[in-house]
Parts: sequence; structure tokens; C-alpha cells
Amino acid sequence: MLIQPVTFGRTNQFSANFQRLKAAPSYTPLLNNSADTFTLNNKDNLNFTGVSSFISNKNDLKKLAKNGHLSCIWCGGSMFMQHELDAFQHFATRLSSNNDLFIRVMLHFSDYLPKERIALVKQIAHYNKAYPDKDLKTIFNIMTPVAENRLVKKQLFIFHNLKKLRPELPVELQKDFDILLEHSKYRILEKPYISEYSAKEFCYQLNNLSKSLPPSRKNEILNTANILTHPIFKEAGQELPEKWLKRVYKQAKINPGAKGNYISPQDYNAKEKLKLLLLNKIMFLASESKNQPVIDLCKLAKDKVLGKPVTVKFSNKAFAYKLDEIICNIHDKNLIKKFNNIIKKLPNSLDNKDAFIVKYKKEPIETIITKLLDDSLVTIEHISPIFRNTNDKKLKLKNKGLSKEDQVKRGTDSIGNWALAHRWCNAIHGSQNIKHENFPFSKEAGIKYFKTIIQDANNGLLSGESVIKMAQNYFEQTGIRIKLTGLKYTPE
Ligand SMILES: [Zn+2]
Repeated sequence: MLIQPVTFGRTNQFSANFQRLKAAPSYTPLLNNSADTFTLNNKDNLNFTGVSSFISNKNDLKKLAKNGHLSCIWCGGSMFMQHELDAFQHFATRLSSNNDLFIRVMLHFSDYLPKERIALVKQIAHYNKAYPDKDLKTIFNIMTPVAENRLVKKQLFIFHNLKKLRPELPVELQKDFDILLEHSKYRILEKPYISEYSAKEFCYQLNNLSKSLPPSRKNEILNTANILTHPIFKEAGQELPEKWLKRVYKQAKINPGAKGNYISPQDYNAKEKLKLLLLNKIMFLASESKNQPVIDLCKLAKDKVLGKPVTVKFSNKAFAYKLDEIICNIHDKNLIKKFNNIIKKLPNSLDNKDAFIVKYKKEPIETIITKLLDDSLVTIEHISPIFRNTNDKKLKLKNKGLSKEDQVKRGTDSIGNWALAHRWCNAIHGSQNIKHENFPFSKEAGIKYFKTIIQDANNGLLSGESVIKMAQNYFEQTGIRIKLTGLKYTPE
């Protein structure tokens, strides 16, 4: 049998692994299916010997990750190519209906996955032994209550530590802080509560969800949502100026003559009515595009506006965002640091298997399988962050009052500042300070990374000059000096 197209795993180990897997009968159908192929073909394999010019673009650099050749600069693990993930997605249904196959395939790629994901797969294997006749989704459901309990305990412990900092907060912020913690507890316990409505939070979440919409629809929705953040809503009183209202109708393409659309400027509830009108309009646009997540978000926001109790899932990001809104103007930068160091410890779906189970408990099993693997995608990491969404003015503000050591500098978008990293490691780095004691990754991974890339440069794939720049940027970011022993210098 010709098995050439299948090249998951490290090439040198692959043959042995494959023989072992092939011997297992339930794996055979997966590999034998050449019609709707598991094709990880060689079409974009780099030719490591015959390349005459240096790699100059991101896509070619990414190919160095293939079969674990170049490992993640931060954690040292192997990374998937996009087409490899696509192949997995293709087989998700088959993996989801065969527990043994699922477990074996996942463990086969343990090099590629974060430790906690492997721990999760091993836990599933354990449950699978206890419940041999249950399907994968049922096993997930059985695991969920225990995972929820453990996760809640961890989250509440972190809240307990945050509370200890309360006396150090300026008095005028303490009430907002208390409310945030109280409401977040409801979220963690998934209990309904009367939640504050925040236009800013709504727009932030809408922005995230609307990425899947077609561009013209997305713009229409975001433009309408933008009206909700107008300062007029924060002003005292309920009335709205007639002229302003007219402009809003026009901008949101709402016909004031249609039934239920007219709002009298003197209406006792004008602001509330307008919020609902705009949310309805967004909901209508989303339903035309059949986007259920946006529809659900609008429903939730409407309930909040109406003061109805709602159940909101706790999210680390939303919590960090809200806490930042409260503490961002404090003069004591050290206190902000203390807060941030505590919230960094909130368990997330990457570093905590219980958080993964809870986050995806309502998803179909095929989605869960995709999510297990997705974060292992190879991405281009800017060793020195380029702060895509921060302009120079904001960057200056960010550095204000910080010691020289803690200040940040914008990196360049060029090969000397590029590295390969997992999607999840890339996200952990983000634009945060990872220097010295803040380094959350593995030093050995960096050393291993540069060892391989030096060989690649000496073999003519990259210029020596770019490797030197990479090491300089790495040092600037992490404080870790890499010895480039054996590197042959070639100009870019
Ligand atoms: Zn990594």
C-alpha cells in the first residue's frame, strides 16, 4: 500500500509510528480512505537543498514548521499547518464516533498539543474505560459537573486574592470594584442576575462576533451599534433632541413612520426606547445573515436594558476589560501590576482542562475536536510586538510612568522580527511584557529554535543577517541572550 501522502508527525519518526498505528485495526479506515483523502500531500513541501534565494515572506517561513522541523519559539512544541488542520476537520465526524480512534490519534500528536490538552485526552481515556459503551459527547457530559466544580473553586480563590487588594484602591473606586466582583460571581456560578447594560461591552463583543459576517453587512451592523455608544446616553434625563433623533433614524436606516418605530423626543423613556429600537435593527440584520450568536447577544443586551435578570457566562477577557476600566487611571502603577498579576492566574481553556470542558460544554463534539487542535496552528509571531491596534500616542501613554525596563517599543514587520509560534503561545505573548521574571515560556525552547534556524541559514534558506536580527529582538523582548555559535554570516 502506498502511504506517501500521509505525512503527519515528524518525518523520521513517522514511518515507525505509522507502522504501529496501522497495526491497530480501528486506525486503518482513517488512513485507507483515499477518496476523501487525509491528504497532507507534499505540494508545499520546501525543498531544503535546492533553494537558491532566501525566504522572504511569511508563508514560506511557516513551511519550516512542517513535520515539526522548526518548533514553537516559546514552548518548543510542534505546530500544525493550516491544511493539516483542515484535514482533521474533515475527519472530525469519524473521530467523534470512535472513542478509541480519537484517543489514539490525539495522543499520536501529543508533541503538537499543550500539556493540559494531553491531560484532558488522558482523562477522557480514563472515563472511556469506565464507560466503554458511551459515545464521546456523553463522556464529555459526564465529565462536566466535576470540571465545573473544580473550576469555580479556582476562580473564587482568585477573587478572594483580588479582594485583599481592595483597601489599597482609591475609595471612590471601591464601590465599582465590589459590584464587579459580585456580578462576576453570578457569572461564574451561571446564576441569573440583573446585569448592568454597557454599550461599550456590547460593541466589543459584537465586534468579535461579527468577524464571520460578510463585510458590507458587518459595517452596517457596527455602524448601527456605534450609535449606542454616543455620549448622549450617559447624560442626565430621558429626552432626546428632535434633530439628533432624525439623524439617527437616517443613519440606522430606520423608518420612523413604521409601526412601533416612532419615538417622541419628550418621551419619558426615549433613551431606553431608542436603545431597544437599535438593538432590534441589529437583530434584524443579523437574522438576515442567519447569524445566531449576534442575535443571542442582542437578546441579552435587550434584557439588560429592560432590567430583566440574565444569565451571562463568565469570561476572563470581559472581566479583565472591566477591571481595567476601573483601575486604569490609578496613579500607583505598582498596584495595577499587582492586580494584573492576579488576574493572569485565572484558569483558561488553554492551561486548564476543566476550563476547556466548561467553555465548550454546549458545543457539538465535532466543534470540540476542532477546538482541541486549532490552537496548535503555526502562526507568524512578531518577536517584538508591533502593536497593530495601538497608535503612537497611545503607546506613549502606555509607557508613561514606567521604568525604562518596563517600557515597550514597537517592533517591525520584517523577517528579522518574525518567528514561528503556536497560535496559543502567540496569544499568550500578545503585547505583554515577557522580560526576565515575567517570561512565561521555556528558555530551552528558544535555544532549540535558534539551533535549527542557524542550520537552516547555513543551508541557504535564510540569511545570517536576519537570524542575527531575530536573536537581537529575542534578547530585547525576553532578556535571554542566544549564542549564535556556528552561524555563517550572509547579508539579507
Ligand atoms: Zn508553543
